[in-house]
Amino acid sequence: MEAPRLYSTKPVQSLKPTKKIPLEEDHGKASDALPLPLHLTNALFFTLFFSVVYFLLSRWREKIRTSTALHVVTFSDIIALLSFFASFIYLLGFFGIDFVQSLVFQPSPDVWVAEDEEDDNEVLLAKEDTRKVPCGQALDCSLPPLPPAAPIVTPQKVFDEQPVTVTTEEDEELIKSVVDGTTPSYSLESKLGDCKRAAAIRREALQRLTGKSLSGLPLDGLDYESILGQCCEMPVGYVQIPVGIAGPLLVNGREYSVPMATTEGCLVASTNRGCKAIHLSGGATSVLLKDGMTRAPCVRFGTAKRAADLKLYLEDPDNFETLSVVFNRSSRFGRLQGIKCAIAGKNLYIRFTCSTGDAMGMNMVSKGVQNVLDFLQTDFPDMDVIGISGNFCSDKKPAAVNWIEGRGKSVVCEAIIKGDVIKKVLKTSVESLVELNMLKNLTGSAMAGALGGFNAHASNIVTAIYLATGQDPAQNVESSHCITMMEAVNEGKDLHISVTMPSIEVGTVGGGTQLASQSACLNLLGVKGASKETPGANSRTLATIVASAVLAGELSLMSALAAGQLVKSHMKYNRSSKDVSKATS
Ligand code: ADP
Repeated sequence: MEAPRLYSTKPVQSLKPTKKIPLEEDHGKASDALPLPLHLTNALFFTLFFSVVYFLLSRWREKIRTSTALHVVTFSDIIALLSFFASFIYLLGFFGIDFVQSLVFQPSPDVWVAEDEEDDNEVLLAKEDTRKVPCGQALDCSLPPLPPAAPIVTPQKVFDEQPVTVTTEEDEELIKSVVDGTTPSYSLESKLGDCKRAAAIRREALQRLTGKSLSGLPLDGLDYESILGQCCEMPVGYVQIPVGIAGPLLVNGREYSVPMATTEGCLVASTNRGCKAIHLSGGATSVLLKDGMTRAPCVRFGTAKRAADLKLYLEDPDNFETLSVVFNRSSRFGRLQGIKCAIAGKNLYIRFTCSTGDAMGMNMVSKGVQNVLDFLQTDFPDMDVIGISGNFCSDKKPAAVNWIEGRGKSVVCEAIIKGDVIKKVLKTSVESLVELNMLKNLTGSAMAGALGGFNAHASNIVTAIYLATGQDPAQNVESSHCITMMEAVNEGKDLHISVTMPSIEVGTVGGGTQLASQSACLNLLGVKGASKETPGANSRTLATIVASAVLAGELSLMSALAAGQLVKSHMKYNRSSKDVSKATS
């Protein structure tokens, strides 16, 4: 198909050769014949021309009258003839040469080639100008005039700024029925079999019901089929969160570009600075200590004795194999690792731990637990299952059990940051960092009665990565449990920093990880989907990346604090010769 011709930003020119002729090659004009002003030269030749014409005509008439042969010429006749030709040539050169040239000469082919190239360049420039790039200085950024007959093509927007207008009569009827309550909003997907249309109708009905506009909440740009029964019910759009990249983060000898979805300014930049300091110091080492998701149902008996009987049964190593066979029936990937029980009177809390492959594993572990509970009913018919989750798991709540026992992936990550990097990149010192860590992350958090909160801002990094990679953002509660340690090493020149995080709950399959944008972020990290070679390898790698990114974040924020506040306050209150008692009073 022929490409449409793009218009040029230049004014339309006549089809004249545009090739420039060098000055030294320029042909002289007839007016250059005499070294006189142009108007004088012209007047001279005009006078000469008409004088000799008059003279020659007079001579011609005289010869006819005297019957003299025309070819007999006198000396004055010869001079007159020469003057005639000279003045004729001059006048022709001055006034008529352009006209004669335009009739006699055609432009040479290479001149047109040159012009064609110029036209092509204009087309290319016009093409470039249509790209959405910032205006460069070299480019003409003025808007090209629109071709008069061309239809105006509005670029398709990723989001709708206006409330969705539903056009068909059938849609209008549906909106009315949702508004008046005859059609439940939740049933739209199953009724229509078109998730996008269902969302549009629900959205319009919601706007009419509430009288509030949803303009600004995009509807287009999300695959509504992909969230059905998996990620979100009754959708009316989606919220946009910008994704920034920190890195390269060098961990275990590999570089990662870490996607962070956040609306907190400086967070990505700060983490990026930490990544730089780690990279310049040779990288971080991240070690996975444990990998097991937990679920703890609560069961009740008539007596504490019966609850204790079940506890002893479940924790007896001889029964483990039987229980694991029952548990493992539910999934190829869920493998029972252990059972720990806690008694509260007649109530028993049974904490099952299992590996879950590349899935975060909540569904998987719950299915396995249900199998075991069903199995136990035979030997313990008096067992009353209060709930499949009895909060001893513990999911999405700060709990010491996760802090001590771990949940999901337990990771420790360390790096030795060189003294000169701390000085040049982080603008602080080893000594200041060690002191700040002791007073803030350890002592300060102890004073606050922290539970797993012995860090500066682990949850910032955890949550940003979780949002970007489709993790369950509510699990940032226990996933952000972290103790940050700092110590001077190499005779005080360098800094050893570590983060220990016992409950990083991540997966690379299931939940939000399969959505297009989240999946792209996992792909960037090289951990998208299920690991083909070793099930679980992708989610474990992701956990080590999360811990390393937290290390970078801790390093950078702590340095900012040390450089900005602590050092200054040290100078003011600890190291100056000022009488502090006077200053404070
Ligand atoms: P979760 O347990 O984290 O909620 P889902 O149950 O939603 O996760 O997703 C796990 C699903 O993915 C299971 O059906 C499981 O069989 C499947 N699956 C495929 N490959 C893997 C893998 N490598 N690791 C874990 N699960 C996998």
